[in-house]
Amino acid sequence: MSLNMLLPLLLGLLLLAACDNRSSVVDGSSANATSRPAAPDADTGDVEWRQHGLNAAETRFSPLRDINSDNIATLGLDWHFDYPTARGMEATPLIVDGVIYTTASWSMVFAHDARSGELLWLHDPQVPREWAVHLCCDVVNRGVAYADGKIVSGTLDGRLIALDADSGKLLWEVQTTDRNRPYSITGAPRIVKGRVIIGNGGSELGVRGYVSAYKLDSGDMAWRFYTVPGNPEDGFENQAMEVAAETWKGGPWWEIGGGGTVWDSMAYDPELDLLYIGVGNGAPWNAKIRSPGGGDNLYLSSIIALDPDDGSYVWHYQTTPGDSWDYTATQHMILADLDINGRQRKVIMQAPKNGFFYVLDRRTGELLSAEPYAGVTWATHIDLDTGRPVESAGARYEKNSTGLHLPGPIGAHNWHPMSYNPDTGLVYIPKQDVPYVFANDTEFAYRPGYWNTGTDALPAALPDDPETKAAVLDLVKGAIVAWDPVAAAPRWEIQHAGPWNGGVLSTAGNLLFQGNSGGHFAAYRADNGAELWRFDAQTGVMAAPVTYRLDGIQYVAVVAGWGGALALVGGEALKAGPIPNRSRLLVFRLGADKQLPTQTTTPLVLDPPELTASAAELLDGQRNYLTFCVFCHGDGAVSGGATPDLRAMTAETHQRWDSIVRGGSHWQNGMVGFAGVLDQQQSENIRQYVIERARITLDSN
Ligand code: CA
Repeated sequence: MSLNMLLPLLLGLLLLAACDNRSSVVDGSSANATSRPAAPDADTGDVEWRQHGLNAAETRFSPLRDINSDNIATLGLDWHFDYPTARGMEATPLIVDGVIYTTASWSMVFAHDARSGELLWLHDPQVPREWAVHLCCDVVNRGVAYADGKIVSGTLDGRLIALDADSGKLLWEVQTTDRNRPYSITGAPRIVKGRVIIGNGGSELGVRGYVSAYKLDSGDMAWRFYTVPGNPEDGFENQAMEVAAETWKGGPWWEIGGGGTVWDSMAYDPELDLLYIGVGNGAPWNAKIRSPGGGDNLYLSSIIALDPDDGSYVWHYQTTPGDSWDYTATQHMILADLDINGRQRKVIMQAPKNGFFYVLDRRTGELLSAEPYAGVTWATHIDLDTGRPVESAGARYEKNSTGLHLPGPIGAHNWHPMSYNPDTGLVYIPKQDVPYVFANDTEFAYRPGYWNTGTDALPAALPDDPETKAAVLDLVKGAIVAWDPVAAAPRWEIQHAGPWNGGVLSTAGNLLFQGNSGGHFAAYRADNGAELWRFDAQTGVMAAPVTYRLDGIQYVAVVAGWGGALALVGGEALKAGPIPNRSRLLVFRLGADKQLPTQTTTPLVLDPPELTASAAELLDGQRNYLTFCVFCHGDGAVSGGATPDLRAMTAETHQRWDSIVRGGSHWQNGMVGFAGVLDQQQSENIRQYVIERARITLDSN
């Protein structure tokens, strides 16, 4: 028996000794990374999923191979649990000591028996529903963290909560943000050395980004690191902010906040003792408004390495200097040790929104490779000598609008987790092409608490002319790309019907699992992408699957349920038609054959009243729709399935329109009143615009 084979066994025995009333529990991260045939594992010990990305390196590659490419045909549903919400579901569940912990919409936390699905407890943090207006991308949450008997989770309104893992009892709760600003938390916390690390979101609406650490045992704050400088007159928090401020020029950026939120990805290297955070886009998007004198605007769109003990800056790499396109670098980061040009390198890998796949030396931040993994028009290439992108002519729309850009603000890759499989040497990226027309907003005025991008959304709306519209939609694509990070090149792709597909999991069983916007959960061969198995989930699946083994049975689990940014804003771009949300946890094993209850979908019925508005009133309605409504109700009032399709409003809803839109009578669903920013005529013009959209849809059918 080789040392490699012994290591997992030894670790298992150690853990067994440490907790004598538990079965042998091995974190999936402890397995070795050598290639093995897809035969059932001789070892049958318990293997759980105890950290967000499975391990601190966030590889999302499981060593389990009881379920493999030879026997997957018999994989079937073992149990499922339906959650009481019907909004976006993005969580990666954790499996700890036989319990599966996950989150649903509105930051709710659920604990189930991981074998039977029995609900053990739930915690509803009672997020005020009207907080939804302060969110860019649905009332989602991407999961919890676990350590020392505590489950820690963030809430949409900026709280961090710690729960007793056994009972769900609230242990402590702390407000991590200023409630007078439109901050939110949707990301999963990470726990490093007894501290809970948590960021936040809100750049689209106008905030200053930061990441904080709280002591796990008490909830007391240990440190905070801001990602962009504040008002220089107030002094700088540290030298990193002083350096950063030199790259912001000529504007009171601190009033809107500058952006740079850390809303999703982190990773930790225990050997180097470095914490890596991914930093988001600028606030506003438009660099000319944000920083009229130009500059790189550090540390927007950057990967930053921090000292996890005090949050001090170690190094950074900026993917998109002077970001003007919502090109966040918050996307999933994976740590690996790779042999590059004959040299063993400790790397960090990311496929940020801007379309390039980056491999950096994670000790120093040195750029090793950066090649496009999706359609890219904003830059011709990344100069490896300077580490900087070479921008295309016309990339900067701040001067004049230059037509369709790739990627659009939805990104070539968004939050959906990737997986790095050391058996195949491949990183699997859920990628997409969703073009967008960026245009300068010549009449920009800061509206605190609402969207403030500094871009004019009117040119970005899908055109009505059928030919042009078809040509644009033709450019919209979704796929998994299998990326070779050593060769810095793609190996193969799995094409999907449209964009916004799920996060991925790969396993030593030569398998790749992913849900998709077409309502299926599927498995592919990890070595060549051939489809092996699929299950009708009756809903879109965005979240990343996990796998675990208890009592010798390997399970695969995935959170299903449709929503999120593109589902809200891009109904037609999804190409799959409206996709229903059924918020549920699906758990599979070999030989199981449970069925989901039969579902019927009611088709959209469009019966709009007469259109009475003038052309000028319609244009006003469209402008205000694009300013206040499009982020939840979709381009052209076409719903992606996560919120009601306004074109199908009943006569009664038309009657009550103004009491909903300005009066806020649907606040309990997250639809606040807009009386502060819209007068009655503007509200009516938006209704007329929605009627026009319904009539155009009827005419085109
Ligand atoms: Ca953003």
